[in-house]
Amino acid sequence: MKTRKFLISNTLNIFKSRASRILAFCIIFLVLVFVGLVIILALAEDKVKSVQLTPATSADLRLVSKRWWPAEVGFRDTSLELSFTETQLSVSSNIEIDLVNPPTGWKLQKIGNEGGRYYYVILVTNVPTRVTEYVIKFLDSRGNLIYREVIINPQGALVALPSWADSKYLSSGDDLLVQVNREFKLPQDYVPQDLLILSDLGIRTWFPTQLRQEAALELQKMTQAIQAAGLDYLITSGYRSFADQLRIYNEKVSAFGSTDVADRISSRPGYSEHQLGTTIDIVTSENGYSTGAFELTRLSNWLKEHAHEYGFVMSYNSQSGEASGFIYEPWHYRYIGGASAAEFIKSGLTLDAWLKARK
Ligand SMILES: [Zn+2]
Repeated sequence: MKTRKFLISNTLNIFKSRASRILAFCIIFLVLVFVGLVIILALAEDKVKSVQLTPATSADLRLVSKRWWPAEVGFRDTSLELSFTETQLSVSSNIEIDLVNPPTGWKLQKIGNEGGRYYYVILVTNVPTRVTEYVIKFLDSRGNLIYREVIINPQGALVALPSWADSKYLSSGDDLLVQVNREFKLPQDYVPQDLLILSDLGIRTWFPTQLRQEAALELQKMTQAIQAAGLDYLITSGYRSFADQLRIYNEKVSAFGSTDVADRISSRPGYSEHQLGTTIDIVTSENGYSTGAFELTRLSNWLKEHAHEYGFVMSYNSQSGEASGFIYEPWHYRYIGGASAAEFIKSGLTLDAWLKARK
């Protein structure tokens, strides 16, 4: 008992000295700071959790503008129509999305992301036989459900596809040296199987653009060489689906009021080298990214001199004219492989004539 009393009074005595009191306050202060931090962190974590649990009011999801639409697929408040039996819808979103219980035969396919947006296409097969309204449900990566209404009007499917008389369908476009012209066309469902997104390879594109792997990798080297030469470039077109080409052609026909003009500046669907996934349109800032007067730019000269070193050749040169049905297009290059490109350049022929002679 005595010993215990002695210990207590001794401990109290320690606090009587000034230094000991300061030490005690410091310890208590540090303990309080620690407890305070723990409480603040716990609250902060709770706040983050509650933000995640609150549904965002808008996921900023939209079906992209009409120019992106392959044919005529419309929202409730538009009068656009679907004009053939197999097509796709383009979608872009600021966060990743998925389709929830899509209509049978519809598939969401991610194309890539660029400028902070994710780009997708919805492949629409199994098109209805009468005007049908769909509610498409998207689920974004934050867990929000987003609804969009789409009307598909298959009546437009009765419109005949603009074809060239006596042309034959190719079985595939996989061969790098396949001839695509008014005589030979690509089938509606030909889609190259090894498409890559060019921006993923650091290639500058106007819109998300794809090319077949071999062509894309060579284009990557070529564009690096263009930049090393102190020039700039922009790829404005690459792979184009049959559906895209039909839309573009129809736009030209309605803009110029006749197929005559449209046929000189655009291809009918199936007749475009862009469907091969090996062909690009390339422009430069020097003339305002225009195809007009492109041939006067330094990039045009560089390409004439060097593109074949990377397997790219100009499809429609100044001698092409009526033979291919195309005007001179110095911005339109097709990948045929390095060895073939070297042979072709030596021949002095137009690409169409050279490909024909090779058969
Ligand atoms: Zn082109």
